Amino acid sequence: MVGVRIDLHTHSNESDGTDTPAELVATAVAAGLDAIAITDHDTTAGWAAAEQAVRDLAEPGRFRLVPGAELSCACPDGNGRNITVHLLAYLFDPNSAALAQEQSRLRAERRERLHEMARHMAADGFPVDPDEIMAGLPPDSPGGRPHLARALVNAGTVVSVDEAFAKFLGGSGRYYLPRTDTPVRRAIDMITEAGGTTVLAHPFATARGPVVTADVVAELTEHGLAGIEIDHPDHEPETRVRLRGLAAELDLIPTGSSDYHGTNKTIRIGQETTPPDSLDRLVARCSGSKVIG
Ligand code: AMP
Ligand code: FE
Ligand code: ZN
Ligand code: FE
Repeated sequence: MVGVRIDLHTHSNESDGTDTPAELVATAVAAGLDAIAITDHDTTAGWAAAEQAVRDLAEPGRFRLVPGAELSCACPDGNGRNITVHLLAYLFDPNSAALAQEQSRLRAERRERLHEMARHMAADGFPVDPDEIMAGLPPDSPGGRPHLARALVNAGTVVSVDEAFAKFLGGSGRYYLPRTDTPVRRAIDMITEAGGTTVLAHPFATARGPVVTADVVAELTEHGLAGIEIDHPDHEPETRVRLRGLAAELDLIPTGSSDYHGTNKTIRIGQETTPPDSLDRLVARCSGSKVIG
C-alpha cells in the first residue's frame, strides 16, 4: 500500500496538546492522513471523543484511529543512572485495574507538580496564576509543563513555549520539579497484561536529555517491548540509521511519528510516518481494545 500515511504519536488537550480530541481527528483528516494514534500522557480520557469523531466522518473506513497513551517511565540508562523514558502504549484495555490506578496516581501527581511549579514562579514575581492554570485544564487531565510555558507566553514573559523550557522549565531549569515515574518494566508488564503493546518513544533523542544505551533497549525487548520509534522530529539522520540497525538486530517493530502537540510545538501532524506493515504487526499483538474506523 504505497502512499498510506500513518502517525502513531499525537497529543490532544486532554494532556499537553492544544487540539480537542475531535479537532485532532479533523486535523489528521485534513492533512490527508490515513490513520493516527491518540497518545496523551497518562490518560485515555480523549479516546471516546476521538472515536466518536471518527465514526462521524463522511466516508466510513477511510480513516482509522488507534487508541493509545504515552507513559513516562523510570529506567536505568545503562551507565549507572536512572532516567525518564517515554513508552507509547497501544490498544490496551483502559479499564484494566492496575493500569487505571497507576495512571490515576500519575495524573494526580502531575497536577500537584504543575501547581507547585507555577506557585514557585508566582512567589518569585512571575505573572502567572497557579489556580487559573489548573482551572483551564479538562477535569482529571494530567497537565504538564507546556501549560505553564503557555501561561508564561500569554503573560509576555517569554515569546515561545520553547523559550520557557530553555529558560525555566527544562530538566536543569530553576523551576523544574521531578515526578515519580512508573518503573519501565512494570509499565511494560501492565500494558501487556491489559492486552496492549508497547513502543519506546524517541529512544535516542539526546536533545531532550540523557538517553538509554542500545543494551538497555535489548533488555527491554527481552522484557516484552515490541517496537521503537525511529522517525521522530528529535532524531537526526545518523540516529535514525543507528536505530534502524538496532530494530533489525532485535526484531523490533519500527515506527515513525510526529509527536504532534498542536500549537505547543511547531511540528506538523504527519511530519513523520509509520510503515503500514508496522501498524499491522502492532495490531496483531493486541487484544485489549480495537482500532476504530
Ligand atoms: P512534563 O510532561 O510536564 O514533564 O512536560 C514534558 C512535555 O513538555 C513533553 O511531553 C513535551 O510535550 C514538552 N516539552 C519538553 N521539552 C520541550 C521543549 N524544549 N520545548 C517545548 N516543549 C517541550
Ligand atoms: Fe508532551
Ligand atoms: Zn514523549
Ligand atoms: Fe509525545
